[in-house]
Amino acid sequence: MFVPQRIIFEKGALNYEVGKNIYEEFKNKEKTEIINLTNNKVKEHIPGDNIRDFYKEGKNTLVVGVKKGYKFQSCKPSAHWQLPLFSGCVGNCQYCYLNTNLGDKPFIKVNANIDDILDRANEYMDERKPEITIFEGSATSDPIPVEPYTHCLKRAIEFFAKSEYGRFRFVTKFDDVDTLLDIEHGGKTEARFTINTRKVIEDYEKRTGSREKRIEASVKMMKSGYPVGYIIAPVFMYENWEEDYRNLLVYLSEKIPNNLSNPITFEVISHRYTTRAKNIINEVFPDNTLPMKDDDRTYKYGQFGYGKFVYPKENLAHMKDFFAENIKEIFPDAEIKYII
Ligand code: SF4
Repeated sequence: MFVPQRIIFEKGALNYEVGKNIYEEFKNKEKTEIINLTNNKVKEHIPGDNIRDFYKEGKNTLVVGVKKGYKFQSCKPSAHWQLPLFSGCVGNCQYCYLNTNLGDKPFIKVNANIDDILDRANEYMDERKPEITIFEGSATSDPIPVEPYTHCLKRAIEFFAKSEYGRFRFVTKFDDVDTLLDIEHGGKTEARFTINTRKVIEDYEKRTGSREKRIEASVKMMKSGYPVGYIIAPVFMYENWEEDYRNLLVYLSEKIPNNLSNPITFEVISHRYTTRAKNIINEVFPDNTLPMKDDDRTYKYGQFGYGKFVYPKENLAHMKDFFAENIKEIFPDAEIKYII
């Protein structure tokens, strides 16, 4: 569970149950400073004169806000819409896409007016019915470390359990799932866990759950009847990567119970980066050892004018074969959604 160094309540946030509960939880905790804003100038209250210090302090900050007058963002291809409950993350993954997308907002933010957000989700479902509408709860965040006291995922899961035309999904690298185990979910929420080799987690995924803890949490979710999937990402092709990723799959297979009611799913994503991301990462993490030599990669042109540096074609083909064969052998009943 994430214990913030400071909690910033935006104007009006304490009028909502989510805001009140967070305040009650932390009001007497000496290590957490409570800041009540009369305006919404959050950044003024996060110390740090340069990007590195601001990032560090931001990652220790929880902002409780109120989301007003907005449209949901599209979330293709994994879902139809992002459910805007949270943004930001307390993790320190060096390669994280949030470094680029939310670089000026490194704090985690929860929107306290969850009832308004779920009402809006109802409207989106109405527009598509009788088709099913899928909502993603972690498109711009990892909500699990703050779930034990925000309870927003719990509310969303219970909401979708009752909905005929809605489905919900989220993904995490953390393990604080206990408050989600004994609730009504109706099998309509899919929990996905991102896993990786020990080397990748130790080298690049600071302040996240260990491999063991993530898998333990995923098994708890399975035992509570949730559909569970695994995202193996980002895949780094370092020396002996095949051995490490095979060990990861074998380790996972030893932990997963037999006779699952829902087959597990796999999504596998190789490491890639943009020039913009690389520049920001090098500024925030000057000592990082991420493999980002452009000459070792192939430039893949993107849809919106900026491209990505991906592994060369022959390496990717080998990686695809490796995961397809090994997942099939070790998890014959699993569904591989994609390997990219
Ligand atoms: S856990 Fe996910 S969202 Fe959080 S820093 Fe790591 S990659 Fe980013």
